[in-house]
Amino acid sequence: MDQPKAVILYIEDDIASQRLVQRVLDSHGYKVYVAGEGTLGIALAREHRPNLILMDINLPGMTGKEITTRLRSLPTFSQTPIVALTANTGPGNREQALAAGCTGFLTKPINVLQFPKQVAEYLEGYEETMSDDERSEQLEIYAQKLVNRLEDKVYELQKANQRLRELDKMKSDFIVLVSHELRTPLTLISGYAYLLREKVSNTEDSAMKQMAHIAEGLNMGVDRLSGVIEEIISVSRVASGTLELSLGPVNLPEILEAVTERAHDICQARQLNINVSNFNHLPVIEADGDQLRVALDHIVGNAIKYTPDHGQINIHGKVMGNAIDITISDTGIGIPVEEQRHIFEQFYTLGAIQHHSTSKSAFQGGGLGIGLSVARGIVEAHNGRIWVESEKRDPETLPGSTFHLLVPIKQVKLS
Ligand code: ADP
Repeated sequence: MDQPKAVILYIEDDIASQRLVQRVLDSHGYKVYVAGEGTLGIALAREHRPNLILMDINLPGMTGKEITTRLRSLPTFSQTPIVALTANTGPGNREQALAAGCTGFLTKPINVLQFPKQVAEYLEGYEETMSDDERSEQLEIYAQKLVNRLEDKVYELQKANQRLRELDKMKSDFIVLVSHELRTPLTLISGYAYLLREKVSNTEDSAMKQMAHIAEGLNMGVDRLSGVIEEIISVSRVASGTLELSLGPVNLPEILEAVTERAHDICQARQLNINVSNFNHLPVIEADGDQLRVALDHIVGNAIKYTPDHGQINIHGKVMGNAIDITISDTGIGIPVEEQRHIFEQFYTLGAIQHHSTSKSAFQGGGLGIGLSVARGIVEAHNGRIWVESEKRDPETLPGSTFHLLVPIKQVKLS
């Protein structure tokens, strides 16, 4: 193909106008790119550096005048001819297009015979003019219009945001409702499974022994399912801000004993050592003991998941001002610095989803990406803070991670 005479960008949403202009200019040796709206138009302009831009004024989203003003603010296009091409010939339109930064103003539908000549003139440097007084008067009107449009947009965004919040609440309510619906029959199944296990255990009969084995499996499955449902309920409560604390005096050593007790079998199987230190002399704090235990269960559960066998987990407590700083450090794979803020977000996991394993206790075993968001929700509901320190993630050198839970001794906001 011969070298085009010039490159032209036409920003226009009407397909018929696009085709006509493209056909006419093509046949006169121009290369024409077309964009149906402003953001695409600006992107195409940046990519192809056109010698001239034809601009429809009434466009969806940004108007042609706004696109022109934006293009003029970019050094690459400060001198590029931008010609308004519009059917809107009412009073003041031409002047406003020029005030917004257009070089010229042509009307639609185009005159097929004259159009190529008009385009050539603009390419050669022709510019429409207006007096300084008129320009500043038009600029003032244009600026006022822009402010009005901005105000309308802010209002629209506020409404859309409000709607999104409502939808988000509906989603959380739905999850809580479904989880409760699942929990009710599961309690029943769990009860029957327990009864079955009780009935068939301690028997010498071989058929019954097999039954006992099946009942054991059933109980384990039901427990896992209940655990997932409880996690989903807690995450929805945290997300919707409906987590209710039942405050009272909390003895931290007792809570830590419960946490380590729950982790005992897994740690034994994986040869992980948990060491709890310095809790006995700490003051009794005002908190919701059950919720704090849930938060610690998640953090300790993660320390187990992300530390290879034979690793070490240390849980330490100390008074820091008017709060207790509980640290949980592990000798695991660590967390990249740039991810450390994000891991506390809902459903955020670092492992690739295809490597998701259903075992919660195996090294790098699977999770739903909700443990840390629940822990954060609980700690923040106590007016506390949670954060992590880790040098990097490296499954070879195992830099480890240290989670801090800073919980006020009395329920006041930490300074
Ligand atoms: P998950 O269910 O995936 O464990 P969490 O919210 O509990 O979700 O944790 C989010 C992510 O943070 C995890 O996917 C994991 O990559 C990372 N993470 C959490 N705790 C640790 C830890 N102790 N060591 C290394 N990575 C961790």
